[in-house]
Amino acid sequence: MTCHHCPEKSVISLQHGELCKNHFLSYFEEKVFKTIKKYHLIGRKDSISVAVSGGKDSLTVLYLTRKYLRENNLENELFALAIDEGIHDYRSKTLQDLDVFCAKYTIPVKVVKTKDVFGHTLDEAYPVVNKGTKKKPCNVCGVWRRYLLNKYAREFGATKVITGHNLDDEAQAIVMNWFKANTSLAAHLGPISGVEDHELFVPRVKPLYFCPEKEVRLYALLKGFQIQFVECPYARAGYRAQIQDLLNDFEQKYKGTKQGIINSFLDILPLLKERERQQNQEQIQECQECGEPAHGRVCQACKIKAVLAT
Ligand code: SF4
Ligand SMILES: [Zn+2]
Ligand SMILES: [Zn+2]
Repeated sequence: MTCHHCPEKSVISLQHGELCKNHFLSYFEEKVFKTIKKYHLIGRKDSISVAVSGGKDSLTVLYLTRKYLRENNLENELFALAIDEGIHDYRSKTLQDLDVFCAKYTIPVKVVKTKDVFGHTLDEAYPVVNKGTKKKPCNVCGVWRRYLLNKYAREFGATKVITGHNLDDEAQAIVMNWFKANTSLAAHLGPISGVEDHELFVPRVKPLYFCPEKEVRLYALLKGFQIQFVECPYARAGYRAQIQDLLNDFEQKYKGTKQGIINSFLDILPLLKERERQQNQEQIQECQECGEPAHGRVCQACKIKAVLAT
C-alpha cells in the first residue's frame, strides 16, 4: 500500500486513506495543535505542568506541548510532574524513561512520591483499603494522583495541568459513566476537565483528546521515543479494562465507534455541564482535614487516609 498523498509506503490506514510516516506525523501533530487552539487549552500567560508517567501518552503530549510553544514563539514556563505510587516493577521503569526523555529535551522534571506524602506506596495501601472499602487499586491510585497532581502543580506555580488522556481513555470514561449512571461525573469530562472554577484547582486539559490510542503509539514509535511500553500490573484489575475490551471489539467490527462516542458526547457536554452547575448540591470547599479542594466536608484522599489509619 502507498500513501494517499505521495509514493511512499503506508504506515497506517485511516478513514480518509493510507498515510506514510511523514504524512502521518504531520497529520497527528496538526490534529493536536488544532485541539489546543480550538479549545484554548494553553494561554499566553500559563505556567504549564505536564502530568507525566513516562508512558507513551504522557511523553507524546509533553513533546508536543514543547513543540507547540516553540513553533508559536511562546515563552510559557513548562515542567513535567510525575507521581511515584511505588508500584513494584513498573513505576521505576517508566520513571527511568521519563528521566532519559526530559534530559534529552531539557525539560525540568519533578517527582512526588505517595510514600512521602501519604506514608504508603500503592502496593502497601491497596490491600488495606480494599479490605475496608472494596476499592480497586485504580480507584485509590486515581484519587491519589488527582490530589497530588493538583496540589503540587499549584505549589510549583502552575496555572494549567496538561494530561496525556487520549480518545480511547475518554471513550472508556464516557461509557463507564453511562453504564454506572454517573451523569454528574460525566459532566467533568471533555477536552477541559471539570465544571466549576476554584482558586485551589488548577485547570486540567487534554491535547490528545481526538487521538486514538493506536495513533499515539505509532507516533511515539516513529519518533523513536525510548519507551519500554510496560503495562501497570493493576491495569487489568478494574472495570475500565472490561470496557476497554468491549470498545476494542466493537471498533474492530464497526470502525469509527470510539469517534462516534466522543462526537455524540461533545454534542451534549455543554448541557451536562450546565445542568451540573445548576444542580450541584455540594459546592467545592476546602477539606477540613488537609485544606485541599473537596466536594463535601472531607476530600477523598483524607477518607483513604482515615481507612489506612484504622
Ligand atoms: S492502571 Fe490503575 S493502578 Fe496502574 S497506574 Fe493506572 S490508575 Fe494507577
Ligand atoms: Zn506520504
Ligand atoms: Zn483532605
